[in-house]
Amino acid sequence: MTDRKSELAANLARVEERIAAACAAAGRKREDVTLIVVTKTHPASDVRLLHELGVRHVAENRDQDAAPKAAACADLDLTWHFVGQLQTNKVRSVVGYADVVQSVDRSRLVTSLSAAAEKAGRELGCLIQVALDAESGHRGERGGVAPDGIEELAAAVDAAPGLRLDGLMTVAPLAGPYAGRQRAAFERLMDLSTVLRATRPTANMVSAGMSADLEEAVAAGATHVRIGTAVLGVRPKLG
Ligand SMILES: *Cc1c(COP(=O)(O)O)cnc(C)c1O
Repeated sequence: MTDRKSELAANLARVEERIAAACAAAGRKREDVTLIVVTKTHPASDVRLLHELGVRHVAENRDQDAAPKAAACADLDLTWHFVGQLQTNKVRSVVGYADVVQSVDRSRLVTSLSAAAEKAGRELGCLIQVALDAESGHRGERGGVAPDGIEELAAAVDAAPGLRLDGLMTVAPLAGPYAGRQRAAFERLMDLSTVLRATRPTANMVSAGMSADLEEAVAAGATHVRIGTAVLGVRPKLG
């Protein structure tokens, strides 16, 4: 193995142990939690090594970085998640490679994603990004809709050709009542998911938890964790 491959293998093993331990502590089955490796800022060669090591879900947050990388890895059997704030002028590009957009947070984006998915002849999975620090009717600092905006967006995705509502995503807030309270934040997301699933049982993805707080997310019931640094190391600065 190359040095980089052994490094990634060791990091993945540590993350896998953490997820397994968190599942055991919560009385959950390991297979109920999917690891998504966030490869943003890291090269396509890392994505290729991760694939060799068994990773099947990767995530990116900037189209400029993601589009060439996804093209370079088009031969690999990978599910690509887009997790960054998304401008409508990037939608057509993102729909070209993403299988799931986790950062759906406004109806204009729904309209735009739907048009692009239809045109590309693809079905795109959508997660509504929830900003637990946003006031009613507003969006969060790092994207996301306030909890009372979920239903309207869910209805918009339901009605949009080419889109499939898969569930909810959040990033633990740095400010507001949930700052520093990841477990409470993720439990709130889980409650919102329970409400959503009452009318849309297939929208059962709950994407929460990053390198620093995956245990809290698994304890709260997350189905997908998004791990960058703990697998790939500290991110290089984007040029
Ligand atoms: C970068 C990023 C992650 C991964 O963060 P780490 O702390 O590096 O694990 C997860 N989710 C989103 C939305 C991100 O932008």
